[in-house]
Amino acid sequence: MKFYIETVGCQMNVLDSELASAELISAGWERAESRKDATLVVFNTCSVREHAEEKIYSALGRLKHWKAQKPGSLIAVMGCMAQKDQSRIFKRAPNVDVVCGPGQIDQLTTLVARAAATGEPQIATSVDRFVHKNDPKAVRESFRLYDPKRLKETRPRAFQAMVRIMFGCNKFCSYCIVPSVRGPEQSRPPKDILNEIGILADQGVVEIVLLGQTVNSYRYVEGDKTTRLSDLLAEIDKIPGIRRVRFVSSYPTDMTDDLLQAVRDLPSSTPYLHVPAQHGADSMLERMRRRYAVGQYKEMVDRIYETVPEAAITSDFIVGFCGETEEEFQQTVDLVRYARFKNSFIFKYSERPGNEAARTMADDVPEDVKKRRNNELLAVQNEISLAQSETFVGKTVEILVEGPSKKETKSLSDALIEESDAPSDKETDLTSVDQLLASSRASVFGERGDRAQMTGRTKCDRIVVFDGSRSLAGEFRKIKITSATPFTLCGKLVED
Ligand code: SF4
Repeated sequence: MKFYIETVGCQMNVLDSELASAELISAGWERAESRKDATLVVFNTCSVREHAEEKIYSALGRLKHWKAQKPGSLIAVMGCMAQKDQSRIFKRAPNVDVVCGPGQIDQLTTLVARAAATGEPQIATSVDRFVHKNDPKAVRESFRLYDPKRLKETRPRAFQAMVRIMFGCNKFCSYCIVPSVRGPEQSRPPKDILNEIGILADQGVVEIVLLGQTVNSYRYVEGDKTTRLSDLLAEIDKIPGIRRVRFVSSYPTDMTDDLLQAVRDLPSSTPYLHVPAQHGADSMLERMRRRYAVGQYKEMVDRIYETVPEAAITSDFIVGFCGETEEEFQQTVDLVRYARFKNSFIFKYSERPGNEAARTMADDVPEDVKKRRNNELLAVQNEISLAQSETFVGKTVEILVEGPSKKETKSLSDALIEESDAPSDKETDLTSVDQLLASSRASVFGERGDRAQMTGRTKCDRIVVFDGSRSLAGEFRKIKITSATPFTLCGKLVED
């Protein structure tokens, strides 16, 4: 009765893996150290890029021998790919026993138990939200699972926690499948969110990351009272013990003044703003069905820097989207230079069946052109990131120490810890949350005993590495920056 979870994708999926682990543990399962030791392997999947799906299918294929050698072993697929491909997964990977959509995580243990008892494949997914508009079973994520008491032992770090404040999306960008697989936009009641964060603070959590596909669209209406994200941040700020709050990802048109003022004024709010622009040409934004023009995005950038001068803005970009000309691409380069992003996550467009772009537009930019544009944009972003990082040299910054750096924990996936260190590819590789937990709690020290290259983050989400004691993990420390690379600052611990 041991399970092992492999996670692909964004922070939503990392959180879903925590929730699934909590469900399994409360049903009597134990966490396995590796895939080899497990009786149940769960893949938490992503459908945003074809590459991520293909990786899952090939990993499923490779498990054929593992399953054949281990009678009674089970394989489950959850996440966006489960919702998108549904029973087609059993056809393509006949060794899969369970398919569980993102809205059915609370059914995972029941499905697994049924598959074990009957030997029959089990599936639970939502029905299409567009075909079955009034059906309560239409794609809709579940609120039920959010009990942080159950999450404590499944969090990668005891002092940090992700809290989902919204589900789904109503924006319908033409290249995206999230609105189909994660359902309509729903904001959680503020009292539930505050209650959850209060319990997390009692458990020793000092940093909260609020999650939503378009997190700054958060809006909860109850009678004549509307709670916006700025109101929520103000309430979270009153919770003793919570020292940092970040929110990802923001939608440009919802970056309102009240929100920026909250970021500026509330001691716990951090000036890190991830606001995907996706493109720098109006014609492309229109094809992508983004609901703003480049001028509006630039106006938002100006407002951010005016209100929060120390803001670190990051963005996502798609290069090589349907019909992108060289001139349109150059406008993206111009926007990157204009906005002076701390970092940009750059993706080469890949067609995903089921969305508007796949139905109505040709994926007509050759692969070599996509690659060249990707590299060109990355080079421009690296130059800007380095120039920004260098402004920190000689300064002293406060960081929250997260733990030993990637160099010290070689097996640790960089997905969660060094996310911003991988500007060309935000999406994670196959990441075992178990591996992440094992590494972050490693008690076996290397040759240097308690000393290690440690890593932490500033308020504006810059990664800082320094030499120090492993026991500093979870503490706030001052570091004097001595050198910089585009995505990492190096420094020395300033003794109090
Ligand atoms: S805002 Fe657009 S890209 Fe983001 S999740 Fe919604 S539909 Fe997808």
